Amino acid sequence: MVNQEYPVELTAPDIEPYRKGNTGVEFVTTFDSGIPGPHVMINAVTHGNEICGAIALDYFFKAGIAPTRGKLTFGFINHMAYHTFDADAAGESRFVDEDFNRVWLEERLDGDEDTVELNRARELRPIFDTVDMMLDIHSMGTYSKALMICHGNEKERAFARKANYPSYTMCGSGHIVGRRLIEYTPFGDPATDKVALLVECGQHWAAEAGTIAIDTALNFMRAAEVISDEFFNQHVSENGKNPPVAEEWNVVGGITADSDDFTFAEQYIGMEVIKKAGTVIAYDGGKEIVTPHDECLLMMPNYNPGAGMRKLRLCKRP
Ligand SMILES: [Zn+2]
Repeated sequence: MVNQEYPVELTAPDIEPYRKGNTGVEFVTTFDSGIPGPHVMINAVTHGNEICGAIALDYFFKAGIAPTRGKLTFGFINHMAYHTFDADAAGESRFVDEDFNRVWLEERLDGDEDTVELNRARELRPIFDTVDMMLDIHSMGTYSKALMICHGNEKERAFARKANYPSYTMCGSGHIVGRRLIEYTPFGDPATDKVALLVECGQHWAAEAGTIAIDTALNFMRAAEVISDEFFNQHVSENGKNPPVAEEWNVVGGITADSDDFTFAEQYIGMEVIKKAGTVIAYDGGKEIVTPHDECLLMMPNYNPGAGMRKLRLCKRP
């Protein structure tokens, strides 16, 4: 199956050289500065079809990155799914058995279920438990503008403001089933200082997604104060260099399709702001779906069909 709607403009890098790593966990490498400081981790391919993160990590490895303090860890998270990536069927490598980004519940991690993703999560968990600041790199189904996602705790908002890239920060769970890595207890707990953010770098295979992933990681690592200004300036793009102050939004609701016959009122790509409450934005089995409040931002419309599919997140200004 050729994906005609969204051409694959990026090339998935060969990550085999990073298999061995140096942590005892495959595809995880830690650079230790030997100087006290935070443990920062950047994750790629949490979803196997979202290749921009692999491009960013491969780029930093080749650029000879070295933290100026603390530790910096790079992980190719769902390398099992990534290895099935095929540009001619680019959408089909998101996961092997289940979504890696929904398993982060203690009862599942500690349980005895056996899935490829749960086993990988169990392998990575001891590393994640030592991380102070984590950036999880993703991409989206449409040509939406890039956005940062946080669970919504003040510590996350504060760090996202410091990183200030890309130009939207979206706070709130968006009513997912299961639990995302950024909400895994040490990160989601307001009582710890640990912070995890998730970036959506634009359309999965659009050329600019690779650059956005690199720029986001650079701004994140600079905010964590683990890279030099020299390294930052040498590798950041013009867009990533002096970005405007990012807009902050709260994710206040989600729309899940009740029927197989769900259509959007317009061909939304995401981040449209609908002025008036009561505006029809979709039809679900003949039923009209309207915006619940004024100034409603439509985040990450999902064009995958089927009842039970989460179709959209709805956001409000804080
Ligand atoms: Zn993703």
